[in-house]
Amino acid sequence: MTFPPVCRLAPSPTGAQHLGNARTFLIAYWSARSQNAKLILRIEDIDSPRVKPWAMQQAIDDLAWLGIEHDGDPIVQTQRVGHYEAVLQQMLKDDRVYPCVCSRKDIDEAASAPHEHSMSSMDVPHDSHQNIVEDSQSNQPDMFVQAETTIYPGTCANWRAGDAMPPLGSYCLRFRTDPRPMILHDQIVGRVQCDPGIVLGDFPVTRKTGVAAYQLAVVVDDIDAGVTEVVRGDDLVASAFRQRQIYDYLGETPPAYAHVPLVVGDDGRRLAKRHGDTRLSQYRDQGVAPESIVAWAASTTFGHRDDFPQSQVTRDWSLARWHHEMIHQFEWSAVSRQRTIVPHPSVNWFQ
Ligand code: GLU
Repeated sequence: MTFPPVCRLAPSPTGAQHLGNARTFLIAYWSARSQNAKLILRIEDIDSPRVKPWAMQQAIDDLAWLGIEHDGDPIVQTQRVGHYEAVLQQMLKDDRVYPCVCSRKDIDEAASAPHEHSMSSMDVPHDSHQNIVEDSQSNQPDMFVQAETTIYPGTCANWRAGDAMPPLGSYCLRFRTDPRPMILHDQIVGRVQCDPGIVLGDFPVTRKTGVAAYQLAVVVDDIDAGVTEVVRGDDLVASAFRQRQIYDYLGETPPAYAHVPLVVGDDGRRLAKRHGDTRLSQYRDQGVAPESIVAWAASTTFGHRDDFPQSQVTRDWSLARWHHEMIHQFEWSAVSRQRTIVPHPSVNWFQ
């Protein structure tokens, strides 16, 4: 059975969208339209303490300003909590998650004690460690996923389905990770290998409030919407492996992934306040033309190619022309793998 292609834009309204987000949205848009895919807009607003009330409308305005059109009404995560809850209840029955009452401090202290084995609580037969979960031809990986945070040491993992639950509000649910090495093929990063028992460990699928965490919500949403391609920042490469574990548990096919290199400041570090104001709303307010932002995103994505048009040619291109040309020539193999540097101060540069 073949599925019609579905792509998505998934802004988090935890603050303003900046240049890096714009570049990722544009690449997602060009890819979607180049495959005649449906493109949904999903507002990832379940991270409630950090969500800003103004940021959802501003993200919608930013996309419209850049000429990025999506299909259908926005899907809003806080309106979908029942869907996440149903999956969590099944995971509890299947003993694939367990309640964890540890604080960050407990985890750091327990993890600093010496241990020798995998930090996953899921048992797999001994010989199945040979059995790499693989989705592409065998050759050397382009990237190995590294641990990002302290790996959960398994303190609460002895809980079994049917045991008493701790008091509500005192625990998150943690997913028992399958420790077998996994490989996935990313459209930009290439072949990525991950050893989940060592670099991921058991990870939370809810917060202590009981609300679904990002890793779970994103998978349930992408499955329900039939998403076939995920385009997002390469800070989420490790998350693709956590999410892949949830797909495998649910018996669903994961989407294709394209993790776009981050946009960095002129010191090579991740965009931050010290690099000046790179909010899209700010460029809009300062009278920057959206064509300048789109031209920048296009040239940092495809500008290394011999057939990329010279600036004398593109000087008068409208937004619609830019999108038409980029959609027409879009192919993943042509997308730059380099990090993109934003000049400082960027407003002058775009004007
Ligand atoms: N909401 C996330 C972001 O704004 C993207 C998550 C995803 O695409 O899976 O970075």
